[in-house]
Amino acid sequence: MYTQEFFQAQRSQLVGRLALRSLENFESVLDYLLSWEVLTWEDYESVSLPGQPLSTLARRLLDIVWNKGGQSCELLFAAVQKAEGADEQTEPLRKWSQNESCSVQDLQKHRPTIVRKIYGHVESILNLLLERGFLTKYECDEIRLPIFTSSQRARRLLDFAKVKDNGVAQFLLQHILQLPVLPVPLPDVTACKKYTAKLKATVSAQSRFLSTYDGTENLCLENIYTENILEIRKNLSLGVPSQKGHDTLELAEIFNHKGCINEDADTVLLVGEAGSGKSTLLQQLHRLWATGQQFQDFLFVFPFSCRQLQSMDKPVSVQSLLFEQCCWPNEGQQEVFRYLLDHPDRVLLTFDGFDEFKFRFTERETHCSPTDPTSAQNLLFNLLRGNLMKNTKKVLTSRPHAICPSLRKYVRKELSLMGFSQDGIELFMRKHHSDAGVADRLVQLVKATSALHGLCHVPVFSWIVSRCHKELLLHGSGFLKTTTDMYLLVLRHFISHASPEDVAWGLGASTLRPRLPTILRLGRLALWGLGTCSYVFSAEQLRASGVDEEDLSLGFLVPSKSFPPESSAPVEFLHITLQCFFAAFYLLLGADVNPSAIRCVFGGHKKPHQPLPRLFPMACFQSPEPEEESVLTLLQRAETHNVRITAVFLAGLLSQEHWRLVTECRGTSTPLLQKKSRVRRCLARGLRRHFRSIPRAVPGEVKSMHAMPEFVWLIRSLYEMQDEHLARKAVSKLEVGHLKVTYCNIGPAECAALAFVLKNLQQPVALQLDYNSVGDIGVEQLLPCLSVCRALYLRDNNISDQGICRLVDQALQCDQFQKLALGNNHITAVGAKVLAEGLKDNDSLQFLGLWGNTVGDEGAQALACALHDHHSLKWLSLVGNNIGSVGTQALALMLEKNVSLEELCLEENHLQDEDMCTLVDGLKKNSSLEVLKLSNNRITHRGVSALLQVLESNATIRSIWLRGNTFTPEEIEQLSLMDSRLLF
Ligand code: ADP
Repeated sequence: MYTQEFFQAQRSQLVGRLALRSLENFESVLDYLLSWEVLTWEDYESVSLPGQPLSTLARRLLDIVWNKGGQSCELLFAAVQKAEGADEQTEPLRKWSQNESCSVQDLQKHRPTIVRKIYGHVESILNLLLERGFLTKYECDEIRLPIFTSSQRARRLLDFAKVKDNGVAQFLLQHILQLPVLPVPLPDVTACKKYTAKLKATVSAQSRFLSTYDGTENLCLENIYTENILEIRKNLSLGVPSQKGHDTLELAEIFNHKGCINEDADTVLLVGEAGSGKSTLLQQLHRLWATGQQFQDFLFVFPFSCRQLQSMDKPVSVQSLLFEQCCWPNEGQQEVFRYLLDHPDRVLLTFDGFDEFKFRFTERETHCSPTDPTSAQNLLFNLLRGNLMKNTKKVLTSRPHAICPSLRKYVRKELSLMGFSQDGIELFMRKHHSDAGVADRLVQLVKATSALHGLCHVPVFSWIVSRCHKELLLHGSGFLKTTTDMYLLVLRHFISHASPEDVAWGLGASTLRPRLPTILRLGRLALWGLGTCSYVFSAEQLRASGVDEEDLSLGFLVPSKSFPPESSAPVEFLHITLQCFFAAFYLLLGADVNPSAIRCVFGGHKKPHQPLPRLFPMACFQSPEPEEESVLTLLQRAETHNVRITAVFLAGLLSQEHWRLVTECRGTSTPLLQKKSRVRRCLARGLRRHFRSIPRAVPGEVKSMHAMPEFVWLIRSLYEMQDEHLARKAVSKLEVGHLKVTYCNIGPAECAALAFVLKNLQQPVALQLDYNSVGDIGVEQLLPCLSVCRALYLRDNNISDQGICRLVDQALQCDQFQKLALGNNHITAVGAKVLAEGLKDNDSLQFLGLWGNTVGDEGAQALACALHDHHSLKWLSLVGNNIGSVGTQALALMLEKNVSLEELCLEENHLQDEDMCTLVDGLKKNSSLEVLKLSNNRITHRGVSALLQVLESNATIRSIWLRGNTFTPEEIEQLSLMDSRLLF
């Protein structure tokens, strides 16, 4: 009985041990249980159904064993331990009995040992059994199906022997005695060890440098890698709204249980926008493994990029993928591959840049054979689905748009890359500049320029700033507002490095004009690449687009990391965003781009009906041929999100700021003005169309709009143009009362764009930005539009006291500002005091939500004090803020004086019975409070009795919420009868 209880208490841990390790581990537990006769044959079959999630089978096994009683439970513990290798000893095999029925029993009794003994010999045994007529060819083929590992084949062979009544069991036992003992666990230790060493050396060399750093900078990844914030994406379908958001984890934790949403899946998905650091994070993971610093549970790590997979135009098998595309084993290929298949849990496969894969994820074709070739995309999809190399861990990186729900089904955990923290930005700059003086000045410069600071959260922008530090320190950063400003800066930087003598600093044509032919050639290649989903270019393609050595020497095209370093290795743009930037240049200044293309960039962008693979069966090896690939067709075929990045740059290049630069670069016939007016028209129309698509408001309610990613992109493009007049025109006539931009990846840069455009709204708006990553810097960027905000929702946005300081000054001074929702951020007593100070001069705020912060007693005191004679606040939420007696006392005093507050929410704090007496004193003198929420505190019957006193004389209070406190069911019944306003 004791064991059964203990067993039940250990259940979740046992499920973990059985389900989270390999299938091999689970099956060897079953072997022991069968051999000790804990499981009947029928039990065994019910827990070894192929295709069922391991966790389901594990739970079923625990149920079966528990029902059998204490001794079986004890044996299960022993089996788990044995299978996990705690008890490595295998019993020696002796002579067997000569009788067939006893032989069947012997096979079962010694199953674990026999499986270990024969797993490396199954093929030869099968041939022998076939030859002797014990098994048919059909039976042999069923046993040797390629989806099974060697041990599984061994088990299937034993299962067949059990049911065949033809002497096979006896024959098998005799044969087994003569078999040589195979070394366990490695079939060929030396070959595997050598392969691991070679793989580590290869991966280490590949991961040493980043492509954005050329040799001259002499910066190894080891020296510059800066921690990127990794946030766990919740399973929104299960998501409890009150769950505290922004759970983060460290790189070292990405394979553990934290944040796991599907125990049966093997893929960790890393999601982030372009430039958020996905490839670099993966590279760091490879480096840490290859240099023996972390992730040593894996014996083999195979890095791939989707660019590389895309370039494979011939069918490949898993074996050729691993060996030919990644690292070739110098000896024992078959043994090494067998080992990989038999120990999938020791293998990690990484796939970078799923968004760049031109094939969309599908479950249409199933492929289970690791040795049979299939298309690269089919191979990838089946690896992700677990049809191939089940239990191998996989890491997949992607921009968000490429992840579809059918792929999410196979995701073990999903992590978003949030970029650098504020401290991270500083650390990054210091790592880059060994000269402390330079680093100090650069850090100060970034901090002092709010728009720049906002951009630097995105690693690729931090890289640009760091790379162009000389220019910035010399000329200041005041001109850096938009993304286009950043990319122009880096363009000028590269040009000046390539030919320092003929380039002077400045935005004048002298900077770019001499290099215009190069820029246009790169631009044409870039656009062609986007239109054919090609991100790596062969020497032949470069020749075909006229890109010569001099163009290459500028440094924007670098040897592709997805291919082995050879002289003929294809090249790629330093970063996808740079490819889009050059494409934008071409769209603006290319001789064959007429203004009609603009519409395609900004709105009429439709994918062609034919799927790309058919149109471009060998895209990577084709050459750009502008006659056939008109600009329009390329734009239509390009990935929407790349077109959007290009559009943002195009708008930026057409800003007033850069007008002189582009006009001086153009040829005589380039219709720049026409293009500019088209962009303006498309943006204004696009935004209006978006607003018009919102259903009409229900009479009596405000018109509400939920923004889609397209809306954020249009806003960003408007911001890049920096045209106040256009922004005004685009939104001034729009009627919307509530603008919801939740879960839209809004960071500081997007906040700046939103403020730039929305400040022109004629009607006050409620701006809902919950569940984004606005942060303190983003709050600052929002300030310009606060004058049109009636309400601001910033729940779950990583805002700290610093952000509150920035907000309060401005928001609480606006006459029409009524609602501020700051739930689930990092606001402490310091922020609460700042808010309190702001409230003293404010007479408009009606709703203040601080749920899920940590203002504590001190913060509650400050706020309470400020509300003594506040006349507009009706609703205050301090739910879950660590408030105890001291805070409650202050709030009670506030209730004595305050005449406007109608609802006070104090759930999930530390309130006790004594605090109820304090509140009663306040409530006795109060005549405005209608709802008091006290659920989930530490109140007992005694506290409620005190509250009842005041209810007798107070008719204003409509309800007091008390659920989740300490009452017996009888007390609840009794108290509810005493006053129906008490809600339990
Ligand atoms: P993504 O793959 O998300 O597009 P990358 O990993 O290519 O982004 O990052 C772009 C550039 O930003 C890198 O080349 C590197 O210069 C810089 N970078 C990104 N992440 C980091 C990091 N964690 N530490 C240092 N630099 C980084």
